[in-house]
Amino acid sequence: MSTTVDLSMPTVPRVRRTPQEIADAAPVAGARRVLLAAPRGYCAGVDRAVIAVEKALEHYGAPVYVRKEIVHNKYVVSTLEERGAIFVDETDEVPEGSLLVFSAHGVSPAVVQSAVDRNLQTIDATCPLVTKVHREAVRFARGDFEILLIGHVGHEEVEGTFGEAPEHIQIVNSPEDVATLEVKNPDKVVWLSQTTLSVDETMETVNLLREKFPNLQDPPSDDICYATSNRQTAIKEIAPQTDLVIVVGSANSSNSVRLKEVAEEYGAKRAERVDFANQVDESWFEGVATVGVTSGASVPEVLVTQVLDLLAEYGYGEVEEVVTAEEDILFSLPKELRAKLAQDGDNSRQLGGRGARPKR
Ligand code: SF4
Repeated sequence: MSTTVDLSMPTVPRVRRTPQEIADAAPVAGARRVLLAAPRGYCAGVDRAVIAVEKALEHYGAPVYVRKEIVHNKYVVSTLEERGAIFVDETDEVPEGSLLVFSAHGVSPAVVQSAVDRNLQTIDATCPLVTKVHREAVRFARGDFEILLIGHVGHEEVEGTFGEAPEHIQIVNSPEDVATLEVKNPDKVVWLSQTTLSVDETMETVNLLREKFPNLQDPPSDDICYATSNRQTAIKEIAPQTDLVIVVGSANSSNSVRLKEVAEEYGAKRAERVDFANQVDESWFEGVATVGVTSGASVPEVLVTQVLDLLAEYGYGEVEEVVTAEEDILFSLPKELRAKLAQDGDNSRQLGGRGARPKR
């Protein structure tokens, strides 16, 4: 089954100032250019989760229910809705016996149980790197550790990890939380983290925790995932050279919001986050010679291309891609779906994911 996806930006009727008006308002000495961060955009976990919903629609037919946003991106969610996905907040909104996909951010055991209770058929699209953190939480809880989970209160991923061992976990929302933190046994404490945090801020929190609890144990491997870390490294490289950084990504996307903060911390004169190119305000270009562009891990490349097209209209047609890492990670689809695809003779997923970006 093929579907035509409308790639046009949502239209917001407003009159833009012309490139000449912007240039007249604040002339730029020298050439205008774009530094385009790489890696940017889709990570392996998002790629897998979005394909999981697409394949579920293709092989089971609409509607396919999805608990929470499959990934935190408005465009991705609305595109899947057009194809027949129905996004719900909780399992009790799903008719008994229906098909439900768990999002990339993961779910707690209580949510899994509520799906069983409603006789729902489920596909678990939790990113394997989130599942890894869940397993660490379970293992340390079994060892009777107190777990300090660094992450944002209310974020779905944190709720899911917390739900693995609520009696053993305290959430550390920010470095400021450390001062008031109390544990039962300071010699048996471990820290874990949300996968999409600022690397620098997390290490600041860990250092404060270690000052307070010198025997604090580290997780066996980094919880902040490769994609979050790589995208932050790329923007750190670009930010000091820019007058303006545009991050493409949604407001509820933790890693996208972190990219804006990291750009500001590392010297961008200004950083803005947009969902779509039509949210870019041309007044941001006044006096700007170099624009940095990046995108969060849940952002399809088409949205970046639309921003670059708009920038080109305003004289920023020269684009230099700044590559700080190569990524070739691809996760296999959720096992429930793999079985269905094998049964239906569909091996198209083996042809490569959309994490691969066209060369510019
Ligand atoms: S950002 Fe990291 S943890 Fe989240 S889906 Fe992507 S790879 Fe997985």
